Amino acid sequence: MKRILIAEDEPKLAALLIDYLERFGFSTHWVDDGAEVMTNFRTYEPDLILLDLMLPNRDGMDICRELRKCSEVPVIMVTARVEEIDRILGLELGADDYICKPFSPREVVARVKSVLRRMVPSDAVDSRATRQRLMIDEAAYEVTADGTEVALTPQEFHLLKAMAAQPHRVFSRNQLIDKMYDDGRIVSDRTVDTYIKNLRKKLAVPLHNDEVIASVYGVGYKYVPPE
Ligand code: CA
Repeated sequence: MKRILIAEDEPKLAALLIDYLERFGFSTHWVDDGAEVMTNFRTYEPDLILLDLMLPNRDGMDICRELRKCSEVPVIMVTARVEEIDRILGLELGADDYICKPFSPREVVARVKSVLRRMVPSDAVDSRATRQRLMIDEAAYEVTADGTEVALTPQEFHLLKAMAAQPHRVFSRNQLIDKMYDDGRIVSDRTVDTYIKNLRKKLAVPLHNDEVIASVYGVGYKYVPPE
């Protein structure tokens, strides 16, 4: 049973979410204080977090930022501030999706299911990828596109592997830097753009120009499996 942590300070709204999510087979845990979200996250170990932007004592943006430093748990931000959406999904925060208030609980359930579907554990990449045109063999460090082996640098390999593990998820440049280097080094956004450009170039010929890495303007990049 998938576990959903609900960070929401309006009890009626929280009750509605709990009711709906549990009706659809999810297990839920509710926290109403922004300052307690991280503690609850660690003890409850949710599969997904519904995170209200405006919480008492600590706002959702701040919490999301901390979550992203230590976890890849999917985060759906709940907000009444439409103008914040770019930031929420953007470089700085890297939430997986957002829901605008007022919302229908049905919509929330649909979004939760959709975000969870997008999450594929990285050790599942191999078996899943073999059925697809782009194959990533983690053990052999090999990428094959439509039967042609593509020689990648270690950084390009890590970049592609990370994105392919979660198709359609938008990664910010900062998140991709973390995937490429495990020593926490600081490299510029331009570096990521260069790697992406090289990857695209290397994959273009074997994939007959089918684009697998899409740019998301102002946010970053996502992997789109070739059909
Ligand atoms: Ca609130």
